[in-house]
Amino acid sequence: MQKQDKHMIGDRLAADTELVRLHLEKLASQPCEVLSDAVVRDYKLRILDALNHCDAKLVAHYYTDPLLQDLAEESGGYVGDSLEMARFGRDCDASTLVVGGVRFMGESAKILSPDKRVIMPTLDATCSLDIACPIDEFSKFCDAHPDRTVVVYANTSAAVKARADWVVTSSIALDIVEHLMERGEKILWAPDRHLGNYIRETTGADMLLWDSACIVHEEFKARGLRDMRALYPDAAILAHPESPSEVLAIADVVGSTTQIINASQSLPQRQFIVATDRGIFHKLQQLSPDKEFIIAPTAGNDATCRSCASCPWMGMNTLPSLLEALDSLAASGTGKPATLLANEILVDSDTAGKAMLPLQRMLDFAADNQLKVRGKA
Ligand code: SF4
Repeated sequence: MQKQDKHMIGDRLAADTELVRLHLEKLASQPCEVLSDAVVRDYKLRILDALNHCDAKLVAHYYTDPLLQDLAEESGGYVGDSLEMARFGRDCDASTLVVGGVRFMGESAKILSPDKRVIMPTLDATCSLDIACPIDEFSKFCDAHPDRTVVVYANTSAAVKARADWVVTSSIALDIVEHLMERGEKILWAPDRHLGNYIRETTGADMLLWDSACIVHEEFKARGLRDMRALYPDAAILAHPESPSEVLAIADVVGSTTQIINASQSLPQRQFIVATDRGIFHKLQQLSPDKEFIIAPTAGNDATCRSCASCPWMGMNTLPSLLEALDSLAASGTGKPATLLANEILVDSDTAGKAMLPLQRMLDFAADNQLKVRGKA
């Protein structure tokens, strides 16, 4: 990396850290509402009715509230990782997609399904990786390295995707980078430095990395994990590659959310220590009720506990915000032109057209190649 690149990244990182901090402070000031069982039941009935009435499908990420995940499945929608969510949204025949997740997931759904309406419980649900990769600075970074193939993680804005040659999710990143390496291509990677570093070390690819991180996975601590392994010597450690390299070095399996779920079912162990957002425990426990799942430690030296293994933006997808979004949808009418909703995802056609190309490349690659669990198990 050139000296001036290092300076650029250093200055930018300080600004991005501030942006993420401001977002987190805003979230911390919002009250947290605990709903009684009766109220939850009422919300669920009204949401199921509204989804049906509005010809809408709920597509939820594994990190969202278990209540949303259950609702998605009960209503014929979908629960999955970001790649699976995008594919389901594109292929289902509903006229509206309700995306339970974070904003980049809503944008990907809209790009892949331009004729469908895409709404979210709240557009404030974002991601530290998205925030920390603003398009203007990212474009300058790409312009400074025209000899490199630009590969971006799905956790980026539509504008950043539009600047990329490839979009990847964590479930397919290694396969695509290996494919590019075989073609002799050098890579510019953004935005997650831990995932980028993991891919670089695993594949040996020539990768220049953008420097930002997921506030959830960055908090997992290697020393605490070693202590936990001593307490549970028979447990397998499953880690998401957005975690720091010292954590990944101890893990038995490193993989995306779907790959972690698959490993929990196929490995012989009965206990698992899991380094990813605790929202995934709902699906893990549902699929393997007789196994024990333990969250990897986030406490210890340098711990800030900004997330404690729970993404604050995923947490904004609540039953009240979901029902409110559906009520506005019902009130807006389904005829054309429909009223633009406050929580509707829009991506301008130029950006969407450009972002579609690297997204479609990933989907075509996935269709032609079988994904596999990566790790030491
Ligand atoms: S868990 Fe991390 S990567 Fe996922 S949405 Fe939250 S901040 Fe972004």
